[in-house]
Amino acid sequence: MADGKWSASQTGSPAMAGPRPVVLSGPSGAGKSTLLKKLMKEYSGVFGFSVSHTTRNPRPGEENGKDYHYVTRGAMQAAIDGGEFIESAEFSGNMYGTSRAAVEAVKARNLICILDIDMQGVKNIKKTDLNPIYISIQPPSLEVLETRLRDRKTESEESLQRRLHAAKVDIDLSKEPNMFDILIVNDNLEDAYGHLRDALLEEINMVKKINMSS
Ligand code: ADP
Ligand code: 5GP
Repeated sequence: MADGKWSASQTGSPAMAGPRPVVLSGPSGAGKSTLLKKLMKEYSGVFGFSVSHTTRNPRPGEENGKDYHYVTRGAMQAAIDGGEFIESAEFSGNMYGTSRAAVEAVKARNLICILDIDMQGVKNIKKTDLNPIYISIQPPSLEVLETRLRDRKTESEESLQRRLHAAKVDIDLSKEPNMFDILIVNDNLEDAYGHLRDALLEEINMVKKINMSS
């Protein structure tokens, strides 16, 4: 973990100028969506969510175009083959991916682009010039993760087992040196949120300043 090692001046190539994007990763059920929804609510007009594509079905309450673009496997594969995606991955029996358009839409509004992606996505984004801040949200333990996923009541037993299997790999990989800039254990929600907010405060203030003067 290299807490706070990045700074606004580390913005990537001129083509990618603007606030640095933020990658939020970590096991399914660790609390990424919960934390990022809190962040976007407290700092509306600062962050923009990169709306991914997926072949999984929407959960109750999820909205097409807001939480994900829900597409068929055929349509998604065709778009990937057509070069429309920055990265894509197979996770728990479904396809997920970040389109260039999703990131561009946020960047065009000069907002901090947040990507909620899995570990394969993290590895693939590292091959691009996006230059985000990499943050891993981890559960306090696998047992707690399982309880949270079960209590969320969104997964079939098969999907839950696949997610727990992926979580074990994720937990190990997240400890590798240089994989993430910041690692946050989401035990107490308010503590984890405070840590996330503090880590991003420099970027948040920069965007607020730019948006106030424009
Ligand atoms: P992810 O987006 O990483 O898959 P979610 O944000 O959906 O995870 O969180 C998984 C479940 O755990 C949700 O039901 C959420 O309300 C709950 N949750 C998140 N953070 C905490 C926490 N710190 N303590 C207890 N429950 C939590
Ligand atoms: P869920 O089905 O719970 O919404 O997401 C399952 C996993 O897919 C999570 O780890 C989430 O971060 C990841 N994910 C969501 N969108 C993308 C994406 O565009 N690319 C990649 N690689 N992973 C994604």
